[in-house]
Amino acid sequence: MSLLSVIVPCFNEEAAIPFFYDAMQKTADDFASRFPGVEFEYIFVDDGSTDRTMEVIKDLRQKDKRVHYLSFSRNFGKEAALYAGFLKAAGDHVVCMDADLQDPPELLADMYGAIVNEGYDSAATRRVTRKGEPKIRSFFARCFYKLMNRISDVEFVDGARDYRIMTRKMVDAILKLGENNRFTKGIYSWVGFKTKWIEFENVERVAGETKWSFFGLLRYSFEAILGFSTAPLSFVISLGFIVTAMAFILIIFVVIRTLLFGDPTNGWPSMICIVVFFAGTQLMCTGIVGAYLGKTYLETKNRPIFIAREEE
Ligand code: UDP
Ligand code: MG
Repeated sequence: MSLLSVIVPCFNEEAAIPFFYDAMQKTADDFASRFPGVEFEYIFVDDGSTDRTMEVIKDLRQKDKRVHYLSFSRNFGKEAALYAGFLKAAGDHVVCMDADLQDPPELLADMYGAIVNEGYDSAATRRVTRKGEPKIRSFFARCFYKLMNRISDVEFVDGARDYRIMTRKMVDAILKLGENNRFTKGIYSWVGFKTKWIEFENVERVAGETKWSFFGLLRYSFEAILGFSTAPLSFVISLGFIVTAMAFILIIFVVIRTLLFGDPTNGWPSMICIVVFFAGTQLMCTGIVGAYLGKTYLETKNRPIFIAREEE
C-alpha cells in the first residue's frame, strides 16, 4: 500500500472543483489498473475564497472520506496554499494540481511511473504551447524566463507548471525552506533532485476565471527576482563604478578646458544634465537596495506563512 497526496490550492473555484473531482475519479480508475495498491488522498486548500468553494469542498468530504481540507483565514496566495498542502500531506508521494484542470490528470500515471519505475525523485510538467493566452502575456513570460536564467543560479524552465509529483524526501526538503517570500517554481529547482520533464499542450481552464492580472504577474516576477537572485545588487555596484569613472573623465576634461579657454559662466545646461542624471541613478540604486532591505525586513518578522481557519 502506498499513499498519493493530491494538493489542490483553491481560490474562488466553486465552479471548477466538481469538474476537477470528476476528472480525478476517472483518472484514478486508469491509475489503479497500472498501479494497483496506490491510494489517493485529496487535500483542498481553500485560500480565503469568498464564494461557495468551502461548501463545495465540504460536500465532497461528506461523500468521500479521502477528501481533506484546510481553509485559510484570508487569501494568502497560491504559494502559501501549496506550502500548507505540503505540511498537511501524509502521502509517500505528493502531487500539486490546479483546481481548474489546466494540469491534465491524464499525465498523472506517467508522472507516477517516472518515480516508481524509472527511478526519478520527481516528475514535472511544462507547457510547450501557450494557446489561449493573451499574446502579450506569453511574450513577457518568455522574457521573464530568459532573464531569470541569466541572473539566477537555479534553473527556471520556460512553461514549467507547479504541477509536479515528488517523493516524500523532496517534500521534506521543500518544507525546510520556510521563507515567507515563496516562489515555488524556484524552490522546486533549488532543492534539486532528479527530475523528469513531461511536456504537454496548454489546456484552457474548465470553469471560472484566472486569478492573475497582468500587473499581478509582473509583481510575481519581481518577487521571483528578489527571492532567487542578487544580480540587481551587483548591477548597482557596476553602475556605481562606471559612473564614478565617467565622473573622473569629466572632471579632467572640465579642468583642462577651463585652463585652456577660461570660460567660467558657460556650462549651466551641462550642469543640470549631470545633476539630474546623478539624482536619477542614485534614486534607482537606493530603490534596488531598498527592495532587498524590504524583503529582509519582512522575513525577519518571521510571520507564519498562512493562518488556518478550519481543517479536517
Ligand atoms: N490560487 C490560489 N490562491 C490565489 C490565486 C490562485 O490558491 O491567490 C489557485 C487557483 O484556485 C488555481 C491555481 O491557484 O487552483 C492557479 O490559479 P489560476 O488558474 O487562476 O492561474 P493560471 O492558471 O491562470 O496561471
Ligand atoms: Mg489556471
